[in-house]
Amino acid sequence: GELTSLPDIDPARLHVIRTSKPKVPPPAKTLVFGHTFTDHMLVIPWSQTTGWQAPQIRPYGPLSLEPSVTVLHYAQTLFEGMKAYRDENGKVTLFRPDMNMKRMNKSAARIALPTFDADALLDCIKTLIRLDAHWIPQEVGHSLYIRPTLIGTQRAIGVNPPNEALLFVICSPVGPYYPTGFKPVSLMATTEYIRAAPGGTGGYKLGANYAPGVVPQKEAAKLGYSQNLWLLGPEHYLTEVGTMNLFVALKKDDGSAELVTPPLDDVILPGVTRDSVLALARDHASGKNPIKGLPKSLTVSERPITMKEVKEKAQSGKVIEVFGTGTAAIICPVERIGYLGEDITIPTGEAGIGDIAKGLLGEIVGRQMGTIPSDWSVV
Ligand code: PMP
Repeated sequence: GELTSLPDIDPARLHVIRTSKPKVPPPAKTLVFGHTFTDHMLVIPWSQTTGWQAPQIRPYGPLSLEPSVTVLHYAQTLFEGMKAYRDENGKVTLFRPDMNMKRMNKSAARIALPTFDADALLDCIKTLIRLDAHWIPQEVGHSLYIRPTLIGTQRAIGVNPPNEALLFVICSPVGPYYPTGFKPVSLMATTEYIRAAPGGTGGYKLGANYAPGVVPQKEAAKLGYSQNLWLLGPEHYLTEVGTMNLFVALKKDDGSAELVTPPLDDVILPGVTRDSVLALARDHASGKNPIKGLPKSLTVSERPITMKEVKEKAQSGKVIEVFGTGTAAIICPVERIGYLGEDITIPTGEAGIGDIAKGLLGEIVGRQMGTIPSDWSVV
């Protein structure tokens, strides 16, 4: 008979092989972001003929891949980045993990890798986190960075939808982004390179989007800037910052404020933090949940914004703040933008972070750490 549907990811089939050599997690203060991995990983193979096979949790270690596998030639790879937090009472939570699962499926569909039941994968990830939860450092501000990845593993040279794929999840204990107080970053508004183009893949979290950013990043660093500000088109539209979404707070002529972020189109990654900032700022603006530090009268706009506007408004004192948003830093204040050989100075306040960024950061961290109850936090 004809096969109508192949098995999806099934948490009931999850098989756990515990490590016989558990490691001792290193002292929290020695952690370098993304360099240490926990004892276990989740692995789920897929093939065109069998569908998703039984999920397996096994000791963290090398994967066995033939040199012909398509991921190594055509960048058939996509990933996610999310964190597990431990609250004061030891409870471990994820922050809006459904959004990561949804984005991962969208990325998979974009490069013809297999999609999956998002809740089922999340279930398996929860089992992995439970097993390695003791790797989340007890120290304040620490967390477990979770990296789900999906690769095409067809053993053949040729650009096609792969007939085999491998989903794996690894976990890395990480320290706080700002161990010694806020540190605003400087950006190089890059006119020589772009990160993403209309019709391209910038709106998906594909490995292929990241390797080309390394050289521009090195060049920005050589000029003394910490990250690239990615622009687009002859108008020099602002798009993203390094690997973060971008927000600009402006003073309007009537004295009120506007919080601007570029609209989601195919050059902007739909960040979970971006969505959270927008939701919080809108709830503040409507009076539903006022946030300390945010202007009383605030308009929240997803609209295009050009370097011309930022430069002019900065010069006339109408730029209140600029910040990036992403899972790693949550909110990252910007103090300076290099653009066509000049530096545009952005206010950051004495603490190195403006009131708007600080207010929003507190709201997000509170929901991640459980001090502010929220359905964004998943036990
Ligand atoms: N833009 C890019 C290009 C990124 O890689 C990331 C990190 N995932 C973000 C934005 C921020 O997304 P999130 O808030 O979901 O971490």
